[in-house]
Amino acid sequence: MTTIRARLTAWYAAAITATILIFGAALYHELQKPNPRELDYRVRLQAEAATKYLQESHRVLGPLVDHLEGTPSLNSAISPYFESVREYLVLVGRRGELLYLSEPARELSFAALERLTAPLQPLPTGPQFGRVTVEPASKLTLHYLVAPVDSAGADIGALLVATPYRNLSFDPGVLLNAMLVSLPIVLLASGALGWWLAGAAMRPVEGIIDELEAITDGRTLHRRIVVPAGGDEIRRLGHAVNAMLARLEQSFASLRRFTADASHELKTPLMVLRAGVERTLTHPKTPAETLQTLDETLEQVNQMSEMVESLLTLARADEGRAPLALEDHDLRDIMTDIAETAGILGEEGGLTVTTELPDHPVRLAVDAGRIRELLLNLATNAVKYTPAGGRVELGLADGVEEVTITVRDTGIGIAPGDLPHIFERFWRADPARSRTGERAGTGLGLAITKWIAEAHGGTIGVQSRPGRGTVFTVVLPKTGEPAAAPPRRDAEA
Ligand code: ADP
Repeated sequence: MTTIRARLTAWYAAAITATILIFGAALYHELQKPNPRELDYRVRLQAEAATKYLQESHRVLGPLVDHLEGTPSLNSAISPYFESVREYLVLVGRRGELLYLSEPARELSFAALERLTAPLQPLPTGPQFGRVTVEPASKLTLHYLVAPVDSAGADIGALLVATPYRNLSFDPGVLLNAMLVSLPIVLLASGALGWWLAGAAMRPVEGIIDELEAITDGRTLHRRIVVPAGGDEIRRLGHAVNAMLARLEQSFASLRRFTADASHELKTPLMVLRAGVERTLTHPKTPAETLQTLDETLEQVNQMSEMVESLLTLARADEGRAPLALEDHDLRDIMTDIAETAGILGEEGGLTVTTELPDHPVRLAVDAGRIRELLLNLATNAVKYTPAGGRVELGLADGVEEVTITVRDTGIGIAPGDLPHIFERFWRADPARSRTGERAGTGLGLAITKWIAEAHGGTIGVQSRPGRGTVFTVVLPKTGEPAAAPPRRDAEA
């Protein structure tokens, strides 16, 4: 049940099934209750038929009671007629003596028969309905009618017709069967209907999710979702999300503005500071013991200037104010230059810097300054993180649709856990890992490198094995339009 739609469907199906079960149980309970009027009608019909038969028989045959051995009983000429009666039928004489019992009545125990015939004592003066539990153990309750029988001779007094107290026209089995058969169908139908209803209800939410997923970073924060018409919750949600996006966009904009302004404002004082320190360093009267401190100060000031410069670049890139000056260049020239610089940098550490370039020109419309910056970042990192005696190799491959630049080193490598973070701003692995004597980096180099690659419509990737070395691969498309607004991770903002 991962989606709201599936949950809604399940709830809907469960609600429908529960409703049907409750309704079925109530119906079952109601229908099971006997209907007294139906029972009245049944016993009255039987009583009337019996009375009529007795009267007719008396008219034709005369007295209807035989007195065999002193015990009065219904004339054997007419008693067979009553044998077909399926109800409890009791016939008594004027003094209440038993004249006839139908088959169901004869099957009753003595005590039960006593209870059944009790309403005939004394003889009824008019028709009277009633109910009697004749066998409390088996809960056999009978609905009866007692009525006097006139004009059937002086021997016939009254009759009683009784029928079990239960619902005559209702068969619980039929209802149960119907419910058992219909339940799976109802479940399926309600499931399908619920799925459809939930889908229709969730569709606007899905739309909002799709639109929100398209807002991936600070650059797409200007987008707004389409608010559906109507006055429902989805509309409110749409407005709330749009309002939140507006606030976020504003916060992002002021954050970028602040970074750009702060970096810009810091540039001039840092320049003045550097000039001052440099002047003092070169001043002949500066005491020798101060020179060391000033040297370290200059180092720090330089690093700070570098960081401020990088921050300004990134802030401008974020604001879309760092356009590329694209021009056709042979990338081999840029690579050769950088390899030379890297060679000088690596010389001290005894590193070998080599290049592997195609024989033919590899021309591409790039911002040469930026690409130089990208390569220099990668090359200086390679030199910085490769121990003495190691190798740094700059490669260029000319493909059909893209150009691939690789910067490979045999250095300390990057731990797998660190790999996902290296392009983040200000992220640096344990500084103790870099070659001794190397100046600590700012942690902004690779963030800028990534931005430059993406601004050219390209990508940058890294592969590394700790202790074995690292390869950075930059792929630049030959045809693709350089991205004016490169995608960027907000977490780095
Ligand atoms: P820094 O100024 O610290 O070099 P970067 O953004 O250029 O910042 O690099 C971020 C981190 O990535 C570095 O601190 C370092 O840990 C790691 N890194 C970058 N390049 C390499 C490399 N060639 N070999 C090993 N680690 C590297």
